[in-house]
Amino acid sequence: LAKATEKGSFCFFTQDLTERAMRRLQIENDLHKAIDRQEFELVYQPIFELATGKIIAAEALLRWHHPEQGVINPVDFIHIAEETSMIVDIGEWVLREAAKEAMHWHEEIGKTLRISINVSARQFRNHEIHEALARVYSEIGQPGFNIELELTENLVMRNPEKAEDSLDLLRDMGVHLAMDDFGTGYSSLAYLRRFPFDMIKIDKAFVDDLGRNKEAEAIVRAMLELGRALGLRMLAEGVETELQRAFLAREGCDEVQGFLFSRPCSVEKFRQMLIEDKG
Ligand code: C2E
Ligand code: MG
Ligand code: MG
Ligand code: MG
Repeated sequence: LAKATEKGSFCFFTQDLTERAMRRLQIENDLHKAIDRQEFELVYQPIFELATGKIIAAEALLRWHHPEQGVINPVDFIHIAEETSMIVDIGEWVLREAAKEAMHWHEEIGKTLRISINVSARQFRNHEIHEALARVYSEIGQPGFNIELELTENLVMRNPEKAEDSLDLLRDMGVHLAMDDFGTGYSSLAYLRRFPFDMIKIDKAFVDDLGRNKEAEAIVRAMLELGRALGLRMLAEGVETELQRAFLAREGCDEVQGFLFSRPCSVEKFRQMLIEDKG
């Protein structure tokens, strides 16, 4: 009996593995066609200046409208795009699309916002992101608004020396740099000082615990102080409650982003929000 069960569970195990491998292969295949078939969409989440309550930036977030599976969120396909290097083409599409949209806000709506774009490690390997940026600039001209690239700690800490050069080059090209998901990866304070970052985005995990947990509050306070000492702007991600907002305002956080203010919006909805936004 034991043997049969063992055999049975072995079968389940392989079946599960096969299913996962098949699904992965399917996603990989479909991803190859997704740009040409225009299945990607960018949604925009407004970023607010805490002191004034005005929208001063937007983060572009990728959505994939899969023909059979409906909307797929980045957590379910970005890693595959990274492993297969498709992220290089997808990333350039994101950059171009977001820059053009920010140009529309600037020229057609009269709102000049910073546009934030997420960048993966793979887009740095051979300066792919630098080349993509140069191409986008040559198409739309040097824009009259700031383009900000969001990078994670792990991306830059994997090879800090090389990252420093890459980041300096990007900074020379006129983009702003933000460290995304701060506090969740491997961080070195020494490098934080050396890297040319403009902004730190405090991860939602810390924001979640504000008002609930004294340690989390102490950590966020220390992060804000560190940012001030290094002359960096500080943003808190994933703000969902008024209590969190009040804490961040009291402690001098510069910018906030989260469902309390707005979820990521379609192009149309975001444009409408800008038209109605005073300031
Ligand atoms: P991220 O860059 O940290 O983006 C913030 C994520 O938090 C977004 O999820 C956003 O929808 C979500 N969020 C914002 N405010 C709140 C809130 O108050 N509560 C909750 N529960 N969530 C909130 P999303 O759009 O699913 O993106 C997930 C991650 O996928 C991003 O994390 C980013 O790392 C990656 N990603 C998204 N778009 C791109 C892209 O174009 N290129 C690359 N390389 N990565 C991307
Ligand atoms: Mg981000
Ligand atoms: Mg983040
Ligand atoms: Mg992230």
